[in-house]
Amino acid sequence: MANFSEAEIREVVTRVLGNMQPAAPAPKDWDSKHYGSRKFVGIYDDMNEAIKAAEAGYRAVRAMSVEQREKIITEIRRLTREEAPVMAALGVAETGMGRVDHKQAKHLLVADKTPGTEDIVSNAKTGDNGLTLVEMAPFGVVGAITPSTNPSETVICNSIGMIAAGNGVVFNPHPNAIATSNYAVDLVNRACKLGGGPDVLVCSMVKPTLDSAAIMQSHPLIRLLVCTGGPGVVRAVLSSGKKAIGAGAGNPPVIVDDTADIEKAGKDIIDGCTFDNNLPCIAEKEVFAFNNIADKLIAAMLRSGAYLIDAAQADELAKIVLVEKTDKNGKVKKIVNRDCVGRDAAVLLEKIGVKAGKDIRCIVCETGFDHPFVQEELMMPILPIVRVKDIDEAIDLAVKAEHGNRHTAHMHSKNIDNLSRFARAVETTIFVKNAPSYAGIGFGGEGHATFTIAGPTGEGITSARSFTRQRRCVMADSFRII
Ligand code: NAD
Repeated sequence: MANFSEAEIREVVTRVLGNMQPAAPAPKDWDSKHYGSRKFVGIYDDMNEAIKAAEAGYRAVRAMSVEQREKIITEIRRLTREEAPVMAALGVAETGMGRVDHKQAKHLLVADKTPGTEDIVSNAKTGDNGLTLVEMAPFGVVGAITPSTNPSETVICNSIGMIAAGNGVVFNPHPNAIATSNYAVDLVNRACKLGGGPDVLVCSMVKPTLDSAAIMQSHPLIRLLVCTGGPGVVRAVLSSGKKAIGAGAGNPPVIVDDTADIEKAGKDIIDGCTFDNNLPCIAEKEVFAFNNIADKLIAAMLRSGAYLIDAAQADELAKIVLVEKTDKNGKVKKIVNRDCVGRDAAVLLEKIGVKAGKDIRCIVCETGFDHPFVQEELMMPILPIVRVKDIDEAIDLAVKAEHGNRHTAHMHSKNIDNLSRFARAVETTIFVKNAPSYAGIGFGGEGHATFTIAGPTGEGITSARSFTRQRRCVMADSFRII
């Protein structure tokens, strides 16, 4: 009988587990402190305690070599691959949002394509006056706020980058995804121990609140804030007085002109728009299609699992998926109905009395530019299509629909002038040409992965180096070899 190494056995188990859809875990089996019989490590009732523990973890990691840090990251990648099915099922069970198969794929992407310590590169400058070194140092303890839309994915992706940079981390996760986020915090601590690190390196709360976020934002041991979420929380961390990285909301438009491969554009757009039921902030949110190809594009989308609703049905659905809320200044605003975010297209269609088959994964409709489906970031598999007469009108409306977030935009075209014009005008952090949106975070596109895309503060597709501070060391008049 062949002898299999531990690595080979692990590989087979991972593959088998990856192909199985675990049943949704029963709610009695998990909460913010445990999963099944496992009690999570690194979870605290009090934010001050959590920060103290992360600081101790940071001190321990500071004393370790970069090679040892990389061992911890290797273990995080391994456990993430092995436990992706569990986290995917838990994420859907807890939040009610997204799709288990796509969430699994997101975890594998994070495990495989989030950069580690290789991302930290020192610089040297030599000259008549000697040698100057610039090294990328850790901040210390990072305070991170994470969303409900990619909860464990963001915790793991942030942890890999922040630990590679030599930091400890305290998370204040979204309360609606606390069990899933804390599962990931525990996974990182288990990996840390297996990799020879301290027992606790990343921490989180039993019950995160706006108050615990406020303690984190003002605590002297927190040297860097990293926030992934909507406009409210990005505003809060940017006004904290600390160095902050803000990864905020988007509303990615897609332009399709009449030089595009229309069949492929239709399929790519539906693939991107429906990925994890449209939860990723980079996913296609509204389409501007040249009038002369719009019918063909819609037909291609219908062949790719879209269901076309008419204008009256779109208005009826808008009244369900968007609700009115009065803000503290008495202004009435439309906000997304949380019960509809990240739900399957069939579930949303049922709300307007349409029974759709299992193969339907997206709702498409023709609307005007002012329709709320175009203007609001829905995060649901609903895709409005606006007809435009030419590239000038397409760019003008798409830039307006992006609302100055400068987050993500997409275009399907073979006309390099049109592609360049839109890219220049929209000024987004990510611009994807002729592919589904997820190519922009390394899924079928070149480049590393992240779930924290920092447009407002400029770090872009964050990675380990984003969580470092530069330090310079000068040796005057010596240490040249020429
Ligand atoms: P959300 O804004 O509701 O919550 C994000 C986090 O912020 C949560 O942990 C929440 O508890 C916390 N929070 C909210 N207000 C706060 C405040 N005033 N002070 C401190 N903490 C506060 O986000 P969500 O619904 O979970 O995620 C969806 C939003 O996040 C979308 O707008 C999406 O575009 C955006 N997002 C952006 C990125 C990116 O990389 N740019 C990635 C994922 C999600």
